[in-house]
Amino acid sequence: MFGAIIGDTCGSKYEWRNTHDPAVPLGDQGCQATDDTVMTLATLEALTGNRDYATSYRRFWRLSPDIGFGPRFARWASQDGAPANDSCGNGSAMRAAPIGWLIDDFDAALREADTATLVSHQHPDAVAGARAVVAGIILLRQGMAPAAVARRLTLVTGYEFAIDPQEVRRRPFDATCAGSVPQAVWAALTADGFEAALRLAISLGGDSDTIACVTGALAEARFGLPRSLAATCLAIARATLPRELHPTLELAYDLSRSRLID
Ligand SMILES: [Mg+2]
Repeated sequence: MFGAIIGDTCGSKYEWRNTHDPAVPLGDQGCQATDDTVMTLATLEALTGNRDYATSYRRFWRLSPDIGFGPRFARWASQDGAPANDSCGNGSAMRAAPIGWLIDDFDAALREADTATLVSHQHPDAVAGARAVVAGIILLRQGMAPAAVARRLTLVTGYEFAIDPQEVRRRPFDATCAGSVPQAVWAALTADGFEAALRLAISLGGDSDTIACVTGALAEARFGLPRSLAATCLAIARATLPRELHPTLELAYDLSRSRLID
């Protein structure tokens, strides 16, 4: 699941300064872990610590509120017991990866993705975004071929993954699930390696850290994680995140350790 954190870290520099460079550097100076990493860790904590999702999301938001969260999520997170709103934002997808790694049964994992989403995001599109991430990870780690994964994900989410990258690059910034998850999945299914997938995702522009986060989550299941880039991003995330989040960060890294490749 550390692939999501690598993607967030590498894409962070380009969220507000998009690039279309197909050879964009990964994990260089100026990269940091953002809300995508914090919420991925919160999902991991909820799954492994028997906390409910809302409690973990609020607890982790409070520990690092100034790391890129949108105002709507911050409003929800700042009020204990506040009901979910009708957000279709990609926050539901950015945080979903641990579910696809820690739950093996496909249907059970989809139900868990829905549960994690609905504490804060009630919009059907937010559910679809989280399902795309969780289902994609499970199908890829089962060894399903990318074209078959795309067909299955269309059935599960309603999204189409026949992306025209040139058309996507002309779009305005869009932080909805529908405006960021399909191209992120496409990049993971189209590229020929983990780093190539992240570069392709970032080169599409838009909400680059979250697009790369979702791409990284799926690309890990397809290719494994380059050891050197993982170590770089772990160091960046340690330097970015408050100490209270470090044990969960180390756990996320440890849970991906068997997929590190040289
Ligand atoms: Mg972010």
